[in-house]
Amino acid sequence: MHRFIYTGLPARVVFADGAVGELSREVDRLGARQVLVLTTPQQRGDGDALAAGLGAGVYAGATMHTPVGVTEDALKLVQSSGVDCLVALGGGSTIGLSKAIALRTDLPQIAIPTTYAGSEMTPILGETRDGRKTTQKSPKVLPEVVLYDVGLTMTLPAGLSGTSGINAIAHAVEAMYAEDCNPIIGSLAEQSIAALVRALPRIAADPGDREARSDAQYGAFLAGVCLGSVGMALHHKLCHTLGGMFDLPHSETHTIVLPHALAYNGPSVPRAIAAMARAVGEDDVPRALFELAGKVGAPRALRDLGMPESGIDQAADQAFANPYWNPRPLLRAPLRELIARAWAGEAPA
Ligand code: NAD
Repeated sequence: MHRFIYTGLPARVVFADGAVGELSREVDRLGARQVLVLTTPQQRGDGDALAAGLGAGVYAGATMHTPVGVTEDALKLVQSSGVDCLVALGGGSTIGLSKAIALRTDLPQIAIPTTYAGSEMTPILGETRDGRKTTQKSPKVLPEVVLYDVGLTMTLPAGLSGTSGINAIAHAVEAMYAEDCNPIIGSLAEQSIAALVRALPRIAADPGDREARSDAQYGAFLAGVCLGSVGMALHHKLCHTLGGMFDLPHSETHTIVLPHALAYNGPSVPRAIAAMARAVGEDDVPRALFELAGKVGAPRALRDLGMPESGIDQAADQAFANPYWNPRPLLRAPLRELIARAWAGEAPA
């Protein structure tokens, strides 16, 4: 007998090759007149081109970890130029800035994601103040409209495409065994993993493969819905801890840790593992994800990202500082072993 709670996220999604051509219509639908395009310094050219068509302003100062200082700087421009709609063009960093402004102003947001991180589909915001990253959930930060246009992902470098795609897989994997998982999110997660596992090796072989890019973007969209809808566990908490303690890059850290975190949790979640095995087409899912990282040329060892060996014990201790729900109880020795393997780049246990 079915028994579950499912809360849908109220977002309008336009998914099409060329979806960005719908932008001015979407701005009109929101009744907005003065748009501000947000992006990173690296994507300034694309931001300027988008803004030119709308007579919009551009703020190209988005950066990793959503520092509050950058948000306050952008807010000055929002207030001085009467902005009534935000357009975020970029990955999780740019969408994070947009969410941080929306939290403070309640302005409507149109997100145009250019990576596979999935932030555009979540009511989650991580912000950094004085070097400390805190995360909160609020319906205020969920973008009203998301335009998925494969054309804007074609320039995502091959390496980042692989790690960003595995970051998306991680959302779907942890959704499958979430404490509050439900059959709707479970089936989206399975589809998400299947699409990404199919697409990522093709993108690594040919970054110009538009079909594969579209498949990856579809998988990333579904993974974002999963991340926004149910709670995450060991994998996400560990990546958050490691990233904060040793200043490690986001998607690479997720890529390295995922096979190990899944090997740890796997014995406690046999039904979720069976669904993941259907999606990846292999019985040993942690091993398949470890091999996928190799196929897309991703780093496999935390030490190669700059984490010191002494950090293994520090991170294992930290995991017990703020306890959280996980399908398998957190045990010091196997957890340390997990981190040690990820640090050394060994195959999952
Ligand atoms: P990112 O946004 O930091 O982008 C990485 C780099 O790639 C940037 O320099 C960016 O300009 C560039 N880039 C992005 N798309 C490009 C493209 N198509 N072509 C060329 N260059 C491109 O990376 P990310 O992995 O998308 O985001 C990571 C951040 O997002 C982290 O801070 C993470 O915590 C956050 N995040 C938040 C959520 C959430 O729900 N709140 C979800 C996932 C990630």
